[in-house]
Amino acid sequence: MAKFVFVTGGVVSGLGKGVLTASLGCLLQARGTRVTLMKIDPYLNVDAGTMNPYEHGEVFVTKDGLETDLDIGHYERFLGQDLGEPNYLTTGRVYRDVIAREREGGYLGHTVQVVPHITDEIKGRVRGAAEATGAEVVVVEVGGTVGDIEGLPYLEAIRQLRDELPRSDVAVIHLAYVPVLSTTGELKTKPAQHSVRELRTAGIQPDFVVARSPVELPPSLRDKLALFCDVPRDHVVAGPDLPTIYRVPLGMRDEGLDRKLLARLGLSCRDGDLGAWERFVGGVENPRSRVPIGIVGKYVELHDAYLSILEALVHAGAALGVRVEVVWIPSAQVEREGERALAGCAGILIPGGFGERGVEGKVYAAGYARRAGIPYFGICLGMQVAAIAFAREVLGWTKANSAEFDPGTPYPVIDLLPEQDGVRAKGGTMRRGEYPMEVLPGTHLREAYGAEAVGERHRHRYEFNPLYREAFEEGGLRPAALSPDGRLVEALEAPDHPWYVGVQYHPEFRSRPLAPHPLFLAFLRACLSS
Ligand code: GLN
Repeated sequence: MAKFVFVTGGVVSGLGKGVLTASLGCLLQARGTRVTLMKIDPYLNVDAGTMNPYEHGEVFVTKDGLETDLDIGHYERFLGQDLGEPNYLTTGRVYRDVIAREREGGYLGHTVQVVPHITDEIKGRVRGAAEATGAEVVVVEVGGTVGDIEGLPYLEAIRQLRDELPRSDVAVIHLAYVPVLSTTGELKTKPAQHSVRELRTAGIQPDFVVARSPVELPPSLRDKLALFCDVPRDHVVAGPDLPTIYRVPLGMRDEGLDRKLLARLGLSCRDGDLGAWERFVGGVENPRSRVPIGIVGKYVELHDAYLSILEALVHAGAALGVRVEVVWIPSAQVEREGERALAGCAGILIPGGFGERGVEGKVYAAGYARRAGIPYFGICLGMQVAAIAFAREVLGWTKANSAEFDPGTPYPVIDLLPEQDGVRAKGGTMRRGEYPMEVLPGTHLREAYGAEAVGERHRHRYEFNPLYREAFEEGGLRPAALSPDGRLVEALEAPDHPWYVGVQYHPEFRSRPLAPHPLFLAFLRACLSS
């Protein structure tokens, strides 16, 4: 039988509940516990695919093709494991399945209600995650903050589970904010007390309170939190700001959270080895040099929209002993200023994106990097704009475009495949999840991967148009990877350029702290030697 740990949050969002959950996964796993992590998003969206990255941050794509919240990315990176379907739940999914069952007659004669039908479905999903993954411990992060209307059915489901299962099988960790008052410099516990009270109103007494604060937590405040939140003093855990999120597992270990949690769950606590993780964190915190990389994008004001790419740069940078200094370049600025906007970058990366706004700036940047011999890494849309720039500038097809941005273009170098015509729905209709590909010999790509057969994760609607493959190859932008049937171009590169690579997939989703992605390593190496 599995044990369940729920992580709730209080006072404000954005405290790092996802990183705390991921850190618990990292620590329990290091101690030899079979652990899996689960995120509950209390939205009515069925998945995160249709949510705006400007509000919610990037859409993370799992190997099995689920479009999830970015926290699943943290989980995969901190666990070093691929997650999927059992690890992500939204209110939309819960209701969709309950309503479908109602239509099938699954509740015949009953009034279908939030309690017990929705709460039963939630409990079933949480237990199902343990069954599907074979985990001994499932750590479940409840999105949002305690007191949100959307979160109530989840809190009720947790309350019921605590009643149904032996006491040692369910634990609750509450993450609350302990701010510093700017006028007096004093740390304040009242908001945390209130959020714990809110949790208790839902019938849940937390077992641990993690106090997220900008500074170290003095002993007197531990006493205060223990008293007012009614938790043992050694179950008050300090969570001060740290230089990198990757230090959080080490901070939590120093607080003894993993040890105490295992004791609370009645599990044995084996010795753990975090040596490799510590070396990685050391690499992140003590770079030998710095390298400026320009990222051209539409959402550069919100860095979470590119989270996995930033993390992949951190992983590869740590392995090479460098800190990547990201220069955020809004595509609109490239449209206004041209190459001036791109000056001073050792390399240019263009990430994925949707919609027409800002595309011309990206096309310009991709063309400039090719002409100027600057290392270029195009990811998904970043590959597509490289193809558009090449068609216009080298092949002379000045009106070349992607059918996404100009449906009437005479040269749709990026287009829908014939079988996608007529697909109108936006949710869950993209090519997504991992697909195998064949990496062609004699390419930068092959050198980086050191392998011919590779699987990478996709999330896009449009593809390089196979009609134009020959013309591109002759002109000097050639396929570097193909789908196993040879039909789809999965990557393009310029052979006579230091490093000009565009990939139709999202390598960033597979990068891990202890296993940086080979393409990010190769790109950074090229930037360092240019
Ligand atoms: N908008 C492009 C497509 O749908 C690229 C998508 C992406 O960059 N993820 O094909």
